[in-house]
Amino acid sequence: MTYNVNEKGYYGEFGGAYIPEMLYPNVEALRTRYITIMQEASFQKEFSELLRDYVGRPTPLYFAKRLSDKYNAKIYLKREDLCHTGAHKVNNTIGQILMAKKLGKSRIIAETGAGQHGVATATVCALMGLECIVYMGEIDIERQAPNVARMKMLGANVVPATSGSKTLKDATNEAIRDWINNPTNTHYIIGSVVGPHPYPDMVARFQSVISQEISTQLLEKEQRNAPDYVVACVGGGSNAAGAYYHYLDNPDVKIIAVEAAGKGIATGKSAATSALGKTGIIHGSKTLLMQTPDGQITEPYSISAGLDYPGVGPMHAHLFTSGRGEFISVTDHDAMQAGLLLSKLEGIIPAIETSHALAIFETKKFKKDDVVVVNLSGRGDKDLNTYINYFNF
Ligand SMILES: *Cc1c(COP(=O)(O)O)cnc(C)c1O
Repeated sequence: MTYNVNEKGYYGEFGGAYIPEMLYPNVEALRTRYITIMQEASFQKEFSELLRDYVGRPTPLYFAKRLSDKYNAKIYLKREDLCHTGAHKVNNTIGQILMAKKLGKSRIIAETGAGQHGVATATVCALMGLECIVYMGEIDIERQAPNVARMKMLGANVVPATSGSKTLKDATNEAIRDWINNPTNTHYIIGSVVGPHPYPDMVARFQSVISQEISTQLLEKEQRNAPDYVVACVGGGSNAAGAYYHYLDNPDVKIIAVEAAGKGIATGKSAATSALGKTGIIHGSKTLLMQTPDGQITEPYSISAGLDYPGVGPMHAHLFTSGRGEFISVTDHDAMQAGLLLSKLEGIIPAIETSHALAIFETKKFKKDDVVVVNLSGRGDKDLNTYINYFNF
């Protein structure tokens, strides 16, 4: 019994690869080779050297004393905000660009909503000198101008998706179409633990460096390698998967996943998939997603662009339905207040995604000796305008 993926690519009843026939050869090539490649000594050497020298790992595990005093628990922050490019996403894009090279691919495609994954992909393509095409909804291109500029500066070609709602799911459709048309020279870098098997497992493995480091660092600070609680925000679920990974099957570690309630779960403007989602297929994977009674994907809403996703990865769908994880949803308002509080108490301005995870301390009570690790998935620089407009600074 494990909460990790099984050999068929499923987490409980969720996962699998529900893909058009024309995509099968690409996905199958990846599926049959990804584990062997990741275990090659040359791969591991290059991956760990880049994580150290380029990304800046290990990221610190910081004991947040003033936050701990306020909330009466031992709160540690895993500082993914200190990674190069400002968030955990680069752990995955570094892994996948090395995978692409091993598979002999020279051209990289990606989809992006808020632009954070697009920037992380453009970054590693520049690093490796590979061609980079990023599909992005026309509306998102307007909303996320600074990230579009970053991608262009890094040498990527940003292609607008003009169909449908002109947002993330349409960009995803364009990327899939591109991959079908360019099966031999192209690798598709997916940005979270979503998509057809083996993507959720591959991305979780690349991000698992987070919980691996937490184990070592906690041993030093608390003489134990596992916390009582590990907390992370969930958009698609990659930073959470990385933070939970080594603790998935350890029942002593309680898992808390925090989703965006937006303006409130009942308002029709939210991204709280566990509360509102039903089983369906999105992005080639069977998982929980927000949909109409006819099975059409609903447009999600959150003040935080990175949590604005209508599904969750299959690992998280299983953690939710099995009861292994506790799922909490947090409104825009409560997240913004938590972001402000962390800034004032600890001198750390978090990404608004991360602020959702920090907001749980207002309602969820812990014991004084509980060791609670919060994955600080990203820094708030990219969100400064949203914070400014919200608080009228
Ligand atoms: C993209 C992003 C997220 C959400 O993505 P996951 O795959 O759920 O981790 C969370 N935090 C930050 C800072 C992000 O950039």
